[in-house]
Amino acid sequence: MSSLHDIGETDGWRCWLCDEPVDPDMSVNDPRGPSIDARTTRKKAKKKARAVPERLAHRDCNTGKGNTEAVVAWPDDLFVVDPAVILTSVERLATKGGREAMARCPTSDDADAAGVWLVDRVRRLEPDLQVDYAVEPAGGQYLLVLST
Ligand SMILES: [Zn+2]
Repeated sequence: MSSLHDIGETDGWRCWLCDEPVDPDMSVNDPRGPSIDARTTRKKAKKKARAVPERLAHRDCNTGKGNTEAVVAWPDDLFVVDPAVILTSVERLATKGGREAMARCPTSDDADAAGVWLVDRVRRLEPDLQVDYAVEPAGGQYLLVLST
């Protein structure tokens, strides 16, 4: 077990689930206050030695506090069609590597914007994982692909 402060510093006082800042001075009893999320979605990963098995989350976002499933949301301002479940895809990339189709986009600009956002988001979500994105034309749309 690490202290809340250590985990907060490691995660830059940003919630690993909603990507919003966490105020280290806020009460731990406040819904927006800091808490430690034990990453309950990574059941298999617990066997592996990981540098950051515990993550900083808002009390309300924490998967151990009543939320059954961790959800990492796509922002509303990105134009993505059939978006993949970010956490599931990223966990597959972290364990197996390879490539994951993440979404289809109406234009290559939309796909670029989504790709830039996604690579930045994954960097905070899974700090040990190096990913790049690619945009591939697909049937009049553009496929956004993440690869390790
Ligand atoms: Zn949060």
